[in-house]
Amino acid sequence: MRKQFLTTLLLLAFAMPVSLADEGMWIPVLIEKYNIKLMQENGFKLTAEDIYSINRASMKDAVVLFGGGCTGEFISDKGLIITNHHCGYGYIQNHSTLDHDYLTDGFWAGSNKEELSNPGLSVTILKYMEDVTDRVLNGVTEEMDKEKRDALINANITAINADAVKGTHYVSAVRPFFLGNQYFLLVNEVFRDVRLVGAPPSAIGKFGGDTDNWVWPRHTGDFSLFRVYADRENKPAAYSAENVPYRPAYHFPVSLAGVKEGDFTMVFGYPGRTQQYAPSYHIRMLKEVIYPKQVEIRGKKISIMEQEMAKDQLVRLKYSGKSFGLANGWKKWIGEIQSLDKMNGVARKEAFEKEFMEWVAADPERVKKYGKILDEYRDIYKTYTHNYLVNTYTNEVFGSAGVEPASLAAAFRRAVEMAEKKDPGLEKELQRLRDYTDNYFRNFDRHVSEQLFVAVMDLYGKNIEPGWQAEAYRELAAGCRGDFGSVAGKLFDKSIFAEENRVKDLISRFDPKKVEKDPFYRMAVSAANLIESRVRGEMVAADTRLAELNKLYMAAQMEKESDRIFYPDANSTLRLAYGRVMGYDSRDAVYHKHQTTLTGVMEKDNPEIYDYDVPDRLRELYLKKDFGRYNVDGEVPVCFIANNHTTGGNSGSPVLNADGHLIGVNFDRAWEGVASDIMFNPKQSRNISLDIRYVLFIIDKFAGAGYLIDEMTLVGEPQHTP
Ligand code: ASP
Repeated sequence: MRKQFLTTLLLLAFAMPVSLADEGMWIPVLIEKYNIKLMQENGFKLTAEDIYSINRASMKDAVVLFGGGCTGEFISDKGLIITNHHCGYGYIQNHSTLDHDYLTDGFWAGSNKEELSNPGLSVTILKYMEDVTDRVLNGVTEEMDKEKRDALINANITAINADAVKGTHYVSAVRPFFLGNQYFLLVNEVFRDVRLVGAPPSAIGKFGGDTDNWVWPRHTGDFSLFRVYADRENKPAAYSAENVPYRPAYHFPVSLAGVKEGDFTMVFGYPGRTQQYAPSYHIRMLKEVIYPKQVEIRGKKISIMEQEMAKDQLVRLKYSGKSFGLANGWKKWIGEIQSLDKMNGVARKEAFEKEFMEWVAADPERVKKYGKILDEYRDIYKTYTHNYLVNTYTNEVFGSAGVEPASLAAAFRRAVEMAEKKDPGLEKELQRLRDYTDNYFRNFDRHVSEQLFVAVMDLYGKNIEPGWQAEAYRELAAGCRGDFGSVAGKLFDKSIFAEENRVKDLISRFDPKKVEKDPFYRMAVSAANLIESRVRGEMVAADTRLAELNKLYMAAQMEKESDRIFYPDANSTLRLAYGRVMGYDSRDAVYHKHQTTLTGVMEKDNPEIYDYDVPDRLRELYLKKDFGRYNVDGEVPVCFIANNHTTGGNSGSPVLNADGHLIGVNFDRAWEGVASDIMFNPKQSRNISLDIRYVLFIIDKFAGAGYLIDEMTLVGEPQHTP
C-alpha cells in the first residue's frame, strides 16, 4: 500500500494547484519530494537542501527539541538559543526565591560566567532521519499473529538503532508515522549542559497571563534565552565549569525586515500530538465527555490557586508553574469544544464516515479489508469512553495538583515494596525520594493544598459513580458524610506527607509500616488499585485494538483519497509548516489584523490587574517613544499571526521568512481555530508568533543587554509604511 501511495503522490506532485497549502506538518526529509515546488511558487526563495541536508549545514541544524516538549533555535554561533518564556518558565522558577525573584524581575546573566545551569534540561539536535519502513517490516507477513509480528518488529527496530549509533555518541529512535503505516529512524545528538542566559520579567514574558492565553490580539513577550555548552571538542558533556559554548553547525540570521500581510512564512519545530484522522467516536468522546469534566475540575483548582496567589507572593512563586500547566490545557479544551461546535466537527466526521462506507461498499476487496472498521470503533468506544474518563479523572483528583500529599505519597510505593523485600536498592531509591521531596515542598503550601483537597474530593464524588470510586475515598466520604472541609485539617495533621520535616525524618529512618498506615498513602494506593484492577487491563486491550484499527483506517483513508498528499499526525518529531502572514474574521463584523504593537500593550496596561501590570521601565520607553532602531513608523511591533499549522510542542519554534531569516518565535494559537489538532480551519486557525523585533527591543532597550544582540547575525532593513 505504501509504495503505491508514494508513487501516486509522485505523479500528483506536479499536478498540484498553485495555492499555498496552509494545513499540514511536513516531514523535513520529504520536502524536496512533496513541498518545495509549491513553497517556491509561493515565494520561498531557498531550496529544500537549505532546509534539510545531510551533506552540509542547513536550517535543521539550528532547530532543537528544548527539554521534552518545546522547540528552540540557535541564534548565534556561540550556542545561544531562544525559546518561549513559558518553555523556560519552570527553570526560571527553580532559580527564583523571594530575594532573587527572576520570574518577577527578569534575569540577565551579564556574562557567560553568570549563566545558570539547569540540571535535567536537555537540548536535542536532529543529525538525520531516514525512512526505515522496509527494514522495520523485514520478514513480517500478513499471516503472522500479532505477538510474532510485534516481536519481529521490535527486534528489527533494536537492530536498526544499534546500527545507527554504533561508534558514535548519538541517540536514535525509530518512530511510527501515519499511525504505524510508515517508520522513520531519527538520529540525534543530546546536550545536557544548558544554561539560563536571560528572561524578561513575567510582566512582559507572560503579559496577559491566562486571560490572554490562546487569544488574539496578543501582546506577550513570550521568550527566554539559554545557551548550550559542550566540551572542548564541541561534543555533548555533563555540566562542567570547563565546558565552552557550543558551536552549532547553523544558526538563524535574525531579521529586522518584519512582516507584511500575505508574506510567505514557515515554522520549523517539534509539534507534539495531533489527531487529524481519528473517527467521530473519538472526537465525540473528547468533546462531550472528557473535556467538559476536565474543564470543570481544573477550573476549580485554578481558581483556588489564583485566589491564594493574589494574596501572597511566596504562594505565587510556588504555584504559578502548577497553575499555568493546568490552565493551559483547561482553556484550550474550552476553545476546542467551541470551535468544534462551530465547525460541526463531529457531524463532519460522521459525514466523512458515511462517504467512506459507500466507497468501501463499492468494492468487495475493500469490504473485506475495511468493512468492519467503523462498527468496531463504535463498539469499543461504548466502554472505552467510561474507562478513559475514570482513568483521567482519577489522575486529576489524586495526581496533577489535586490531593497533593497523596501524589507525594504515591511516589513512596516503590520504596515500601523494596523495604518489605529487603531489596538492596532501597538506599538508592530513598536518595531519589529525598530529591523528589525537596522539589515537591519547594512548590507546596499547606493552606492552598487543603483547599485543593476539599474541592477535588467534592468533585470526585459528584462525577464518578460509587462503584468506580477508590475505596479509601468511599470510607472517608462515609465517615465525614461528604463534608470534606470538616476533616481536611485533621488529615493533613495526621499525615506524614503534608509536612517536609516529617517526610525527611521518614526517609532517614525508613519504616514501611508507618507509610502504610498513612491516610494519604492509603488513599493513593487505593486509587491506584482501582485503576490497576478495574480499568487498566481493559484499557490496554482496547488501546491495542485501537492502534490496529487506527493504522488500518489511516491506510484506508489514504487509499480512498489517493490524489491527496497526506501529512502524518504530529508525534514530537521535527516538522515544517508553511503558509502566510494573515489576519482573520473572528465573528460577525470583527476582523483581526495580523500585527499587534506596543501601543496595544499600553492599551491593556492596568496596575490593578496582575496580568496587565506593565513594568515601569517599559511604560517609560513607550512614553518617550525611545524605541531606538526598532522604531517602525512610531511603533514597536509585538506579535503577528499566520496560517501555519502548529500545535503544542511548536512553542518556541522559529518563524522564518522567504529568505529563511528569523522573523518571529511561535508561541500560541488563536482561540477561534484552536481545534486544529483535530480539524484545521483555514478561515480561523492561526498561529501566534512573537515578532523578533520586540525581542530585540526588550533585550536591547528594556534590559540593556545589547551584548547579546552583538552575538547575533542581524539582517534586513526595517520596512516603513510608504
Ligand atoms: N501555546 C501552545 C503550547 O502551550 C502552543 C500551541 O499549542 O500552539 O504549547
